[in-house]
Amino acid sequence: MENFEFHAPRALAEVYALLDEHEYDARLIAGGTSLITFMKQQLVQPDHLIHLGKIDALRGVEIVDGEMVVKALTTYRELETHPLVLEHAPQIAEVFSHVATMRIRESATIGGGLSQGDSAQDGPGLWLLLNARVVLSSNNGEREVAMNEFIEDYFTTVIEPNEVLTEIRIPLPPTHAGFAYSKFLPRSEDDYAAVSVGALTTLGTDGKIASARLTLGSVAAIPVLVPAEMLVGQPTDTDLINAVAESLRELVDPLDDVRGSAAYKTDMAVVFARRTLQSSLQRAIR
Ligand SMILES: Cc1cc2nc3c(=O)[nH]c(=O)nc-3n(C[C@H](O)[C@H](O)[C@H](O)COP(=O)(O)OP(=O)(O)OC[C@H]3O[C@@H](n4cnc5c(N)ncnc54)[C@H](O)[C@@H]3O)c2cc1C
Repeated sequence: MENFEFHAPRALAEVYALLDEHEYDARLIAGGTSLITFMKQQLVQPDHLIHLGKIDALRGVEIVDGEMVVKALTTYRELETHPLVLEHAPQIAEVFSHVATMRIRESATIGGGLSQGDSAQDGPGLWLLLNARVVLSSNNGEREVAMNEFIEDYFTTVIEPNEVLTEIRIPLPPTHAGFAYSKFLPRSEDDYAAVSVGALTTLGTDGKIASARLTLGSVAAIPVLVPAEMLVGQPTDTDLINAVAESLRELVDPLDDVRGSAAYKTDMAVVFARRTLQSSLQRAIR
């Protein structure tokens, strides 16, 4: 690892000033679970490391105007166990309780994870499913970016070098919604998924499908939202579920890698999408 200057500011204003001063020579560090590895491998060699851990404004989970606000330094483990998450959006706790290992979940933060723009992580697909917005802040003020516009390509987000990801805002899922999340882990339980699928559905009082949302991770450069409007107004046992699952073949573009070939991952995405949609419909309350 190369030498670098370590900064531990206590206020966001100091972070913005450091980013303005050092621009591409600086890197933020949160949990360090990725960045330290990249630095050891000399993939990233910042001259200035700006530690966010002492900034209280980046900590906490709260409910504001019917939305859950998750500050950037919230760890995966906190999301798994936070009383507000368990009460208002247990879907989030369910997903994060199955990410990597406990040791990683204790350190990895929501801000650090999302900032990487890695669709193989669990967060991006989940945040897209829940229609979340990402808040980016700098000396120029604050801007909000919809999750479907946040990741542009492999490991590429819209974050500018002078910006900090400060929080994400998540509309609370309806309490009667059915939720299911599945991931295909061909190697080990704590590995990144070869394919991950989330589904969120609601039923009308007539028992027919009132809304359906389906997202996938690990199958393209960015998380994929599968159009599922054709299910609305249909009974839950409709053959259209197969049609929605099959339609994603046109939307995905996975890589051949150690977790499987692109063709295999595409087939698994279809199978997992069908099963996950069916599970979420079974869990939806009329
Ligand atoms: C072995 C292993 C397996 C894993 N498996 C999974 C998995 O299956 N699913 C999953 O979702 N995650 C998984 N993770 C976690 C994930 O890949 C990242 O390591 C983690 O989310 C990074 O969070 P961090 O807080 O440690 O970020 P850091 O390592 O501190 O930073 C990562 C990047 O984000 C930038 N950054 C950090 N905070 C901010 C901010 N607030 N604003 C702007 N930029 C910022 C940094 O400059 C850096 O470029 C795994 C990690 C490991 C090590």
